[in-house]
Amino acid sequence: MVIFNKINPVSEWVANQKKEGKSIGFVPTMGALHQGHLALVEQAGRENDLVVCSIFVNPIQFNNKEDLKKYPRTIESDLQKLDGAGCDVVFNPGTEEMYPAGHQSKTYDFGRLDKVMEGRFRPGHFNGGAPVVKKLFDIVQPHRAYFGQKDFQQLQIVRSLVRKEKLDIQVIGCPTIREAGGLALSSRNTRLTESQRREASRIYQALEKAREMYPEFPVDQIKQQIIEVIDASTELELEYAEIVHPDTLLPVTRAGRNTSAVACVAAHAGKVRLIDNMYLNS
Ligand code: AMP
Repeated sequence: MVIFNKINPVSEWVANQKKEGKSIGFVPTMGALHQGHLALVEQAGRENDLVVCSIFVNPIQFNNKEDLKKYPRTIESDLQKLDGAGCDVVFNPGTEEMYPAGHQSKTYDFGRLDKVMEGRFRPGHFNGGAPVVKKLFDIVQPHRAYFGQKDFQQLQIVRSLVRKEKLDIQVIGCPTIREAGGLALSSRNTRLTESQRREASRIYQALEKAREMYPEFPVDQIKQQIIEVIDASTELELEYAEIVHPDTLLPVTRAGRNTSAVACVAAHAGKVRLIDNMYLNS
């Protein structure tokens, strides 16, 4: 596995491989890697000749400075895990490499996609995230890029970014990897206490129940069920629960066998913010 910290060498490496006819799969991450990330790397490995993974904690997408400070950084074990998962290249730039002095990020407007849910509760999150994804795409120029469905809204925004910028990159959404109790794996889970971790699986239970209820029950009732299950925990504080159309993120008002819907939840367990989602009609 080759490790690059600078932009030019990684771009050159990829360009040379592409000249040789190799296909490139790309997995952008912020490190503190777990099985959810590694599943993306493994899928990229099955579907491409070579896999590039980036590790970059992007300061601009953190609206909460404490969250940025506390974000786990575990580069040595990340590199070991990536090697084991079959990654070929790691791109691990410093902040100055990605944001040189005088750097100006382009701002994007994704319409509704970046205003609701995460966009509403983490102002600036997507406006910090989208330019860095674009920059990483420009550096790596992969054939395919792999994103977790765990960050569902981010996935839809990246799809929109690729359409807007007319990039020749196939964006691939990958299933959410969960702990045995259902809690979605997240780098932030290491900050949960034992009891918070146990209680956090209620988020999954609420989503599973919502999936069972859809489309037989009215959407309001399904949403209420999610709220009640999460509110019943003394460890969790619900931030939002929404049932939306996957493409438009407009609220689904009527459940229907042919109406696509995704339930999205954000909740706090102490100072740790957790998000999860589930397709309801699959
Ligand atoms: P992050 O390092 O949190 O920015 O995540 C990097 C990528 O891994 C994103 O595409 C995430 O959606 C994805 N990811 C994070 N957690 C999971 C998970 N539990 N299952 C699948 N993908 C995940």
